[in-house]
Amino acid sequence: MILRVEGLVKRYGDLVAVDDISFGIEGGDFVTLLGPSGCGKSTILHTIAGFLEPTEGNIYLRGENVTERPPNKRNIGMSFQNTALFPHMTVRENISYGLRMRDYDVQSYENRVDEILELIDLPEHGEHNPSELSGGQQQRVSLGRAIAFEPDILLLDEPLTGLDRVLREEMRSWLKQMQAETDVTMLYVTHDQADALSMSDKVIVLRDAKKQQEADPKTIYEHPANSFVAEFVGKSTKFEGQIKQNGNRAEIETSDSKIAVDSERYRSFGDQNENEPVTGYVRPEDVGISTNGNTDGQNAFSGSVEEILDMGDRSEVTVVVSELGTVLVYTERFPDFNEGDEITVEIPDNKVMLP
Ligand code: ADP
Repeated sequence: MILRVEGLVKRYGDLVAVDDISFGIEGGDFVTLLGPSGCGKSTILHTIAGFLEPTEGNIYLRGENVTERPPNKRNIGMSFQNTALFPHMTVRENISYGLRMRDYDVQSYENRVDEILELIDLPEHGEHNPSELSGGQQQRVSLGRAIAFEPDILLLDEPLTGLDRVLREEMRSWLKQMQAETDVTMLYVTHDQADALSMSDKVIVLRDAKKQQEADPKTIYEHPANSFVAEFVGKSTKFEGQIKQNGNRAEIETSDSKIAVDSERYRSFGDQNENEPVTGYVRPEDVGISTNGNTDGQNAFSGSVEEILDMGDRSEVTVVVSELGTVLVYTERFPDFNEGDEITVEIPDNKVMLP
């Protein structure tokens, strides 16, 4: 294991910024800390880097306790939102600065800098000044500088914030590719669930200084551990009611309807008792839609199309169902019905999430 964080607590007076957080990262993994602003992500990162002293807990790098070590004695690379490039230095000088600061053990820095320039796809830009580069290119130089000295782990704090959507998507694939090429271990911090789901081997969801769930992106998305994770990651329609068992079937009984829940989903829901209040969720891409007027199927409800948003690759349809409220459905692009039409929505029982 490359990094192990154990029982990390950070208090500022009465405020608990990080509340008993533990996790580990295996070599070569891409792990993301995901959560809303203020949940403690940056504090965790700065503590790992050595800029902040934890109130309690320990940080281990390759099994060694580094909690008391100053930042420059931890073999950690970082690219934070505020780590700008040195404007008066060339790209080459910016990258070799990282090597010099770390007493990088090579006869000449130049070969390593050339390797890094290749890696960040800027082989011809070594002599340029940062101001001559685009935002995305500058970001890559910052990453290049952070991994040049072969750190045990690279810490990234919201590196894609402020980039426009297209560039952001490009940088996501680039980062992922760069990680595959170098096998560098990464800990990435973001409030953006798309960043987290698209790049990570493992996502750690945080809220109010506490860990909510730690799992691979598919599990986070399809089996959220609680309502916070279900609502923070991805969109969904929710149903509040009580859980009822009906023979070997389970149902969520809301004030106006019953929604069948697949037995496996119900079992994994755990030790909830009959009649206990429950919130179920369904993802918009899992909801079926039909225009044949048939509502005989399980969990089929008729409703009226309130809004169709054509997104190009799909359409986002909101349907008002009197028994359920507003149901969000993703359909193929440009569906053959209109706002105001009566349609049927169908909720597959094995897609009802009970976090
Ligand atoms: P995030 O990175 O998830 O946005 P932070 O780690 O920056 O969250 O902050 C976590 C909490 O700790 C917030 O409530 C923030 O206001 C508080 N905090 C962070 N730094 C300090 C500080 N130096 N003094 C007091 N409170 C702080």
